Amino acid sequence: MAPLAPSRLAPGGNPQDKRGVTETPRPVTRFAPSPNGPLHLGHAYAAIVAHDLARDRGGRFLLRIEDIDGTRSRAELVPEILADLEWLGLEWDGAPVFQSARLDRYAAAGERLKALGLLYPCRCTRADVLAAARDSGPDGPLYPGTCRGRDVDPAGAAWRLDMGRAAALAGPLEWEDELAGVVTARPERFGDVVLLRKEAPASYHLAATLDDADDAVTLVTRGRDLYQATHVHRLLQALLGLPVPRWHHHDLLVEGDGRKLAKRRGSPSLADRRRAGEDGRALAGALRAHRFPAGISLGAGLEDVP
Ligand code: GLU
Repeated sequence: MAPLAPSRLAPGGNPQDKRGVTETPRPVTRFAPSPNGPLHLGHAYAAIVAHDLARDRGGRFLLRIEDIDGTRSRAELVPEILADLEWLGLEWDGAPVFQSARLDRYAAAGERLKALGLLYPCRCTRADVLAAARDSGPDGPLYPGTCRGRDVDPAGAAWRLDMGRAAALAGPLEWEDELAGVVTARPERFGDVVLLRKEAPASYHLAATLDDADDAVTLVTRGRDLYQATHVHRLLQALLGLPVPRWHHHDLLVEGDGRKLAKRRGSPSLADRRRAGEDGRALAGALRAHRFPAGISLGAGLEDVP
């Protein structure tokens, strides 16, 4: 592929082609749970994939706690998560990273995007978006740009990315998934996504993209339910001049109806299993061998549309 001219957005960075990937024989991976609920088998599977892809290739495996959702995050679950991973026999490198310790970093990146003229304040509620939406995107009803170009009081507002401007500024982009191959980035499907939230300092998209760059993660592994989010993350990397990793979006554990495994549908949490005296390393071995409990299988999940 012919290299593009060095990007206006990443002065001093490596000349990047549309993919921008640096070769990384010894990958750095991470498991990034949100402590919004106890971990279940699906999390165990995701952690094992991240751990094994690093270890099998002589790389590093990091742990990041995504704890910035003030309404859902529960600090008391963090020690449980660490105990669950140890019980499964998964050792991470270095100290766990907490997103709550990085709020200044997210805010600074937000300011940079504002300075580029790419963010605008929006006061629409979820109900407003639902009422105004004419189409749906990967995350549900597609925000139609109601507040774009309007004089909205920024105090206490969310900030949305002007997707049209951002995509035009970044130019054509690609990303590479170890399973899906080279993918053309289509962040436009998401519309003007929220990057700085009202109730949390950053959205998942912004925080995770910055963290993966800051922690030098070179292989982002996660479930296929987050495959679509990568279109937005690839755009943010280009806008913020961040290094570009590879991705590995693995299949999800699903229940009989094809739906993603979720605690609320009754599967016991890892902590329940641990407390009941189950052997965590044996469970990890079974998951590695794709031997799952009755009614659970590996599938793409209904949300998956690569
Ligand atoms: N925190 C996200 C979750 O628990 C994972 C984010 C990611 O792997 O990028 O689903």
